[in-house]
Amino acid sequence: MKQTRQGGGDLEPWQWPEAQWRAVVHRVRAGRALRPAQWQDGARCAVALSFDSDHETNELRDGGESIGKLSQGQYGNRQGVPRILDILKSHDVKASFYVPAVSALLYPDEQRRVIDEGHEIGIHGWIHERNSLLPHEAERELQMRAADTLQSVCGVRPVGIRTPSWDFSPSTLAITRDMGLEYDSSLMADVDCYELMLNGENTGVVELPVEWIRDDAVYFIMNRFAGLRPYTPPSDVFDIFKREFDGAYREGGLFQLTMHPHIIGYRSRVWIIDELIRYIKGHERVWFATHADVVRYARAHA
Ligand SMILES: [Zn+2]
Repeated sequence: MKQTRQGGGDLEPWQWPEAQWRAVVHRVRAGRALRPAQWQDGARCAVALSFDSDHETNELRDGGESIGKLSQGQYGNRQGVPRILDILKSHDVKASFYVPAVSALLYPDEQRRVIDEGHEIGIHGWIHERNSLLPHEAERELQMRAADTLQSVCGVRPVGIRTPSWDFSPSTLAITRDMGLEYDSSLMADVDCYELMLNGENTGVVELPVEWIRDDAVYFIMNRFAGLRPYTPPSDVFDIFKREFDGAYREGGLFQLTMHPHIIGYRSRVWIIDELIRYIKGHERVWFATHADVVRYARAHA
């Protein structure tokens, strides 16, 4: 785990002087919370649904060439995204899709449909690479090339990023800031949007926080050649997501969710999205919005 030892020199972490561990902690920090008293049109709760269209890149990013795993990725395009888009359309709900540039190049028609139906597309790396393993220059170049590629495929310039696997290098936030992106959605320091600080200074980039608890992947992924199997029934995942919403609604805050077309887009699981939207719509004063719209509202009204 080399990246956890950066700046450590020859010292073990338990030998680090205070200045050293403080510097590590303060690289990227949550600043002021951006929590409006109410959301658009007087809503008490904002609901931000998101889908990471990784498809084949989960296999490709490590140089994998497994035809079986690549076929699971293709399912994300053939079945996952269409099922999700149909559900969103039936409820007239807009969401955000984070798309690796390689996925966008493999499936440009999918991205155009996502945009045509009013959803947002954000950056999700080039080939789902791990930022913390990249040389700085390569990370910068890939992030900019990914934005250019999404723009050329979709006709819209992305304004936000979700780093692949929510992996951050010490350079990631500076690159995001320098690119003029409005927000990141990969970190976990709060339930509300917040200002992102880099070495103690506000970057102007807003964080719309995620959490593994609100991510389908942790409950459903299996590894064919290891003991790892899905251990949470879909009904329990629905219950966890519902309770996360209940808390956000009770407190008057933000409910954010991360899902994957190649993970949730199955007959026994995709109902979770439909049921959840139905349940949420049973509440008054709820605002469904893209991540970009939530960030803009929070920034302007907090
Ligand atoms: Zn991803």
